[in-house]
Amino acid sequence: MDRDAARDRIILALDRPDLAAAVDLVDRTGADLRWVKVGLELFTAEGPSAVRAFTERGRDVFLDLKLHDIPNTVAGAVRSAAGLGAGLLTLHAEGGPEMMRAAVAARDETGSDLRLLAVTVLTSLHGDEFPDVYRDADPAPRVLAFARAAADAGVDGIVCSPKELAPLRNAVPDGFLRVTPGIRPAGSATGDQARVATPESALADGASHLVIGRAVTASSDPAAALEAILDGLSGVSV
Ligand code: C5P
Repeated sequence: MDRDAARDRIILALDRPDLAAAVDLVDRTGADLRWVKVGLELFTAEGPSAVRAFTERGRDVFLDLKLHDIPNTVAGAVRSAAGLGAGLLTLHAEGGPEMMRAAVAARDETGSDLRLLAVTVLTSLHGDEFPDVYRDADPAPRVLAFARAAADAGVDGIVCSPKELAPLRNAVPDGFLRVTPGIRPAGSATGDQARVATPESALADGASHLVIGRAVTASSDPAAALEAILDGLSGVSV
């Protein structure tokens, strides 16, 4: 994969407390990334202006609100997100097929390019707590079931751990987005993530996009950290 293609596959997580800090982070990475992710911290602090600030700067915005509510409420939030110009929006697959179908119908009504992603099993859930939450020993079958339900409902893709990419390979339609957080270059700190992988292995296993947060944003030199990731991805054949 060439460097430009690799750059378009990275989504930088702007987990910052305010817009000034998020803009500073994007400026300091230097690389001309296509995608930035506005998540709960930044959106709760700054609201829609956090999305507009980046669309106005020519970025595509992944609005990571992880919606999980009754179908009517989620449909309303999807309409609002479409109006903001976000390119990707998350909802929890756990909200159920009806909720996902309502989200898709709401998006379709707006005629916008917004693509919807269903969050499967959070990448932070680890072996000890997984059985308590889902009554399963292994996340993979659960992720697979969520992914199929999302595809059936017309959702455009999923968010999953890079660890669960391999079983998904032939289980979802071509072109179905597979967005993976929990990305950690070799030797970097895991933090609160549990089911992690390196950028290279996530891409080789079929990720369409990699969400990169602290591996870059917590680095003393974010630009160098991002360049190192791009170097690694440029060597992957997909
Ligand atoms: O810093 P780190 O690379 O762990 O950041 C991962 C980002 O991806 C965070 O913004 C987090 O909210 C998000 N995310 C996640 N797991 C999911 C969905 C989104 O870690 N299942």
